[in-house]
Amino acid sequence: METQFFDVAVIGSGPGGYPAAIRLAQRGKKVALIEATEIGGTCLNRGCIPTKALLANADVLHLVKNAKNFGIEVGSVSFDFAQMLKRKDEVVTKLRTSLESLITGNGVTIFKGRASFTGPHELKIASDKSTFISATDIIIASGSEPREIPAFPFDGKRIHSSTSILEMKALPKSLIVIGGGVIGCEFASLYSELGVKVTVLEALDRILPLECPTLSTALTSSFQKRGISIGTKDFVKSVAVKGEGVIVSMESGQNIEAEMALVAIGRSFNSTSIGLDIAGVVVEKGTIVVNDYLETTVSHVWAIGDVAGKSMYAHVATHQGLVAAENILGHKMRMNYDAVPGVIFTHPEIGSVGLTLDEARKRGLKATRSTYPLGALGKAQAAMQTEGFAQLVVEEGTGRILGAQVIGHEAGNLIAAITTAIANELTIESIIETIHAHPTLSEGWLEAAFIAQGSPLHYPKAAVKRA
Ligand code: NAD
Repeated sequence: METQFFDVAVIGSGPGGYPAAIRLAQRGKKVALIEATEIGGTCLNRGCIPTKALLANADVLHLVKNAKNFGIEVGSVSFDFAQMLKRKDEVVTKLRTSLESLITGNGVTIFKGRASFTGPHELKIASDKSTFISATDIIIASGSEPREIPAFPFDGKRIHSSTSILEMKALPKSLIVIGGGVIGCEFASLYSELGVKVTVLEALDRILPLECPTLSTALTSSFQKRGISIGTKDFVKSVAVKGEGVIVSMESGQNIEAEMALVAIGRSFNSTSIGLDIAGVVVEKGTIVVNDYLETTVSHVWAIGDVAGKSMYAHVATHQGLVAAENILGHKMRMNYDAVPGVIFTHPEIGSVGLTLDEARKRGLKATRSTYPLGALGKAQAAMQTEGFAQLVVEEGTGRILGAQVIGHEAGNLIAAITTAIANELTIESIIETIHAHPTLSEGWLEAAFIAQGSPLHYPKAAVKRA
């Protein structure tokens, strides 16, 4: 079999791999993009996009169910879950089709099959018939998979991973979510909105243990108001099928039963079975070791996205893809992780960027946190979106914005403004000097900045929350 030669081969077509491939092809490189399953990776096919399509359905349902609050009578409300799944699949297919033509339209050659190293520059692509390619540079963007352990055996019927649950054809009456991290909370929120009785079980002392505690507290109370049960500080030992449902056994000795379980205890990295040892690429704890330039321990091999172990956000993978591309093109560019926004698509939504107050203090910084309740804003009242708050973490003395957290309507969009502020090392004065459109939820940042200065405008001084 003849070997085909490329300047760059990219393994994996997710939000890390395909932008790198496109950018390199735009700059004149001959690029191969290799994908074992579907173009677009986890994010487009089994993650961000299908879940957001289902969440949009749930949002409409929520609004319709609460239409009475706006003086609108809709009668009894029902929904067709099969139709919701169909819409989700259509969204994914449409985006995948246009992505595929975007990639090929930029001159990238797509190979379908599983790539593995056969030499430092050589790859075998296994599909119906194996193909062999050689490339000067190779980018590994092979992603991650839901973590499966023997105590939690996925069967795709009663015991689901975050991948198989998206294909579930009928909603269960009850669902136990094992793991109260990002994936667990997003699915808990979604299925609860669709009428499923949801229980979230988290081993640590709060859901979203990696986020600011104020966000965990707010989401916990919001979830509980919506009827989601939350169990913390108890480790789930195992889950098994029992009759028509599942039984979950806890370390405390308690057993909990439900119709279905979702295991969301983290993800494992796709760093095995690529033949990394043949290329001499070093892997530690499952992730490929990279420097700030996304170079692995082998100078012509690069790694980006989940498998590079720095972050599991799609948007970070995309940025890493573009940074790796620039470095391959010889324009030295390093990654900076100081202003990485995170959005958790629960109901209410969560946005965060930079440092929490605790993190700032642990770094020895003198910092304060100023919180403004979104419900005090005119827009929030008018739109009946009064839940949540916006808070700024600010360095004392300099006024430098160190971090921000927001929970509430459109939190994901709201966090963008502060991401730009942190990325550009701005201070609260820059927020105060910026005219914020009225009436919008973005005024929450302006008010939080006023509070940070000790001069709240649209809030009684006595009620101000500052830490
Ligand atoms: P995670 O690590 O965020 O959360 C897993 C949780 O499960 C942890 O809180 C852990 O304490 C708990 N846990 C583990 N074993 C347990 C047990 N036996 N019993 C009870 N609790 C247990 O992992 P995830 O939620 O699976 O998400 C994986 C990654 O994907 C994360 O890095 C996440 O940020 C990323 N992701 C991000 C988004 C987004 O940006 N909106 C969406 C989906 C996934």
